Amino acid sequence: MWKTELQAIIDQHLLRELSVIDSPASPIVDREGQKTLLMASNNYLGLADHPSLKHAAQAAIQKFGVGAGASRLLSGSQTPHHDLELALAQFTGTEAALTFSSGYATNLGVIPCLAKANGLILADRLCHASLLDGCRLSRATLRIFHHNDLEHLQQLLAKRPANRPILIITEGVFSMDGDLAPLPDLVRLAEQYHATLLMDDAHGTGVMGPTGKGTIEHFGLDPGHILHMGTLSKALGTSGGFLAGSQDCITYLINTARSFIYSTAPPPAMAAAAQTALEMIQQEPERRARLWKNREQMHTGLTAMGYQLTPTQSPILPILLNDPQLAVDMSQRLQQEGVYIPAIRPPTVPKGTSRLRVTVTADHSLEQLNFALKALQRVGTSLKIL
Ligand code: PMP
Repeated sequence: MWKTELQAIIDQHLLRELSVIDSPASPIVDREGQKTLLMASNNYLGLADHPSLKHAAQAAIQKFGVGAGASRLLSGSQTPHHDLELALAQFTGTEAALTFSSGYATNLGVIPCLAKANGLILADRLCHASLLDGCRLSRATLRIFHHNDLEHLQQLLAKRPANRPILIITEGVFSMDGDLAPLPDLVRLAEQYHATLLMDDAHGTGVMGPTGKGTIEHFGLDPGHILHMGTLSKALGTSGGFLAGSQDCITYLINTARSFIYSTAPPPAMAAAAQTALEMIQQEPERRARLWKNREQMHTGLTAMGYQLTPTQSPILPILLNDPQLAVDMSQRLQQEGVYIPAIRPPTVPKGTSRLRVTVTADHSLEQLNFALKALQRVGTSLKIL
């Protein structure tokens, strides 16, 4: 049966294949033996390969070893995890935080704790797969509202069955469109209908807000009104996820979140490196300044050429192509020009919205961005998109 499904994926031009990179995820990578300019990474601040993070990880390996050995509740919880959680609570302006082995595991673990079978979840249509999988695991009733459509959300809230706990789920920065959730209005609606609001800020952490605290800071909101989920794997350059909120909420999650309880703790070295990244985000604002300058440069260049972008407000710059085969052809042609930009196709994005997802980082140089823009001009012209 799975073979038929595989053939269907191939027939629909939706087959995905791994390509091997034999280098760090920095702007120039060794991809399948070819030096390639990477315009695809979520390593927004260029920290994934930073000497300070590597040093922090190495020092933690010396002291704590490589593997954590067991779940934190089973064999004891190592200090790097606690230190990181204290730092995350301080960073997000919350009472406490809990880390998980990935952002995916965070959403899978947290949502079933917040919504039970008698609950109602209202989730944005463009929510990440990990959020939707968490919703399904919870067995709560799931209703999807049109992307960032407050009117539709309000209609669903008005029709809610009586006495059912409500959880509203959104992303801060949407991962495949790069636009922002209307967070102030979502907070208002959540309060009006006594709902809990969960925001996944995987792409906002370290990127959004005057000091990089994320989308809540960008909108100047009180962190107390939102359950803040984030990842360590993008701007923080490491791996893992977290939920920040009240102390009671974190105590509850420690006791109920299955992906936390029944999974070996993340490597302590990862926690130590993530804590260093958090410090650097706060001490080196020039990284964020470079990221945003690069973002403006690329955004201006792409729109001036005539590319149609999503209404992005972040360093994620998706070029809408709609046809999946065209997206793949274009990605391959760009690869021949020495630039890697991935084609994003269904089921990652809705049918008819295939795209090239361009991301910029603080580490891209002006020359590299111009190189990418020139390649995009040539390929777009030869494929008659421009
Ligand atoms: N949420 C969003 C919005 C994401 O984009 C991602 C990563 N693609 C995740 C969660 C999962 O995070 P991780 O990669 O750390 O598992």
